[in-house]
Amino acid sequence: MPTYDYQCSECGHTFEETLKIADRNAPCETPCQQDIPQTKHMSIKCKGEVKQVMHAPYFGYDNIKTKHSQNNKVPSWYTDKIKDLKNSKRFPNNNL
Ligand SMILES: [Zn+2]
Repeated sequence: MPTYDYQCSECGHTFEETLKIADRNAPCETPCQQDIPQTKHMSIKCKGEVKQVMHAPYFGYDNIKTKHSQNNKVPSWYTDKIKDLKNSKRFPNNNL
């Protein structure tokens, strides 16, 4: 089963849940259970809104373009690097 990351929008508490894809929104329906200390002897539950944290699904090709190039051309060092990786004997099973 995949692992999903969640973060409370109130206190910033983060946690992971391993869930079926169909159940991935379930933690968002439960308020944050993080203890927020009020006094030395007392704390209350945060009850903030929990949201799923989305991860970038792949290494950002767009970042390369905007950081290193003024136009939309792929920088040559980048294509060379990909060629090197493809031809590399060190990664015979790569699927680039
Ligand atoms: Zn919280």
